[in-house]
Amino acid sequence: MTTSRFAPSPSGRLHLGHAYSAVIGRSGAERWLLRIEDLDPGRCRAEFVDGIMEDLDWLGLKVDGEPLVQSQRVAAYADALEQLRAAGLVYPCFCTRADIAASLTAPHGDAGAHYPGTCRGLPDDPDRRSAVPHSWRLDSARAIARAGLRGWTEADGTAFAADPKDVGDAILARKDAPASYHLACVVDDAASGVDLVVRGEDLRPSTTVQRLLQALLGLPAPTYLHHPLVLHEDGRRLAKRDQAPTLAAMRAAGVDGRALAGELATGFLPLGFRLSNA
Ligand code: GLU
Repeated sequence: MTTSRFAPSPSGRLHLGHAYSAVIGRSGAERWLLRIEDLDPGRCRAEFVDGIMEDLDWLGLKVDGEPLVQSQRVAAYADALEQLRAAGLVYPCFCTRADIAASLTAPHGDAGAHYPGTCRGLPDDPDRRSAVPHSWRLDSARAIARAGLRGWTEADGTAFAADPKDVGDAILARKDAPASYHLACVVDDAASGVDLVVRGEDLRPSTTVQRLLQALLGLPAPTYLHHPLVLHEDGRRLAKRDQAPTLAAMRAAGVDGRALAGELATGFLPLGFRLSNA
């Protein structure tokens, strides 16, 4: 039985790109789970969780089982981090918040690839760790030496090589957030028995990092399918900050959600939008 999941962050209302991803994921899965990625306390709000439920309901996409809420899974992430720590594969990083701002629910941000390694190799100082807020970073050189980089073949048969440029000393946890996107994602995909990950092609670089973490943690690797992105007709990306058409606004304008879902499933987009491969 194929198990897939839809994993939005409740940091805003869902837009057409989310709907496309959900429809593609739902259509490829016998079991389709919902995961609320709410680990960034600064950006996530409960009202957006309600919005996600309403939007999926409007699209006619039925979720199997209870949603998994990441903020309730802190202990599982701490265990995974401890496993990596015991293996000498992570180190505490005391760099400022500004350096690491993009690492949490925005998977498109920091995979650590450009972190200069300032805190790597510092002697471990538990006193400093208990006194100073810090994050934990993957020691990517050691990690790659331990597990090797692994490419993967997508559900449509396309093979992707793991690109070393996509991997760096990624943040895996932070004082105010128990796990980064990457760590929580691999732990939860495995815990939920997800064997097909369907998400946008902008996240393909994340897969290289996540394949590495799976290997280090002894977790099974799901099959991946990275689909094209929904763009404005002029090629602009849909973004929450960019006046993307929210599903709530479409619903308010009288659009039929189930009909929209049916069209998206066959690759038809509303006027004014196109897929990145079109
Ligand atoms: N919360 C992530 C996003 O909304 C999920 C990415 C994933 O499916 O792994 O982009």
